[in-house]
Amino acid sequence: MSYAYLLKYIVIGDTGVGKSSLIMQFTQEVFRDKHDITVGVEFGAKVIKINGQSVKLQIWDTAGQEDFRSIVRSYYRSTAGALVVYDITRRDTFKHITRWVEEATNNGNSTLTFMLIGNKSDLESQREVSYEEGLQLAKEHNMLFIETSAKTKHNVEQTFCQTAVTILDKVKNGEI
Ligand code: GDP
Ligand code: MG
Repeated sequence: MSYAYLLKYIVIGDTGVGKSSLIMQFTQEVFRDKHDITVGVEFGAKVIKINGQSVKLQIWDTAGQEDFRSIVRSYYRSTAGALVVYDITRRDTFKHITRWVEEATNNGNSTLTFMLIGNKSDLESQREVSYEEGLQLAKEHNMLFIETSAKTKHNVEQTFCQTAVTILDKVKNGEI
């Protein structure tokens, strides 16, 4: 399939927040309850349409490398979007966001577009991090913000597409 743009994303955040599940739901439209331990960096790809143009998203999953600073610099090369994920039912994963953002900022290029993702929004009764706290942190670091559920598909498509819209706007405005 031909496309007008190829955009590379990297998905980062603590183990178990749902990075692989979000990618799988977006690219393959499936959800698994089991946690697969994958070693190495894998990627999924999908072509989406934005303003009538085909955009291919190449999404790098950092499976098994969720240690701060262990993600090698080369993965960030030519990356346009950083999706930084926490689990709304685990405050510790939210507390670590700043460090993940720092790592991406230090290794990525200066035009990297950040999307902060509060995943597992279907587990409302177990929520530890409010929507407002997520929004506030996103503002502080100049990130987009969204809450998702890889399980119910809530906002999954929007997450990947809205990031692309923002990146393409920057391209249009000559910022990238
Ligand atoms: P990763 O380590 O960040 O890649 O996390 P995984 O995608 O492997 O997910 C970790 C666990 O959380 C798995 O058991 C998933 O089934 C579960 N999970 C992921 N996303 C969601 C979600 O949105 N809602 C619920 N309820 N569970 C989820
Ligand atoms: Mg994973």
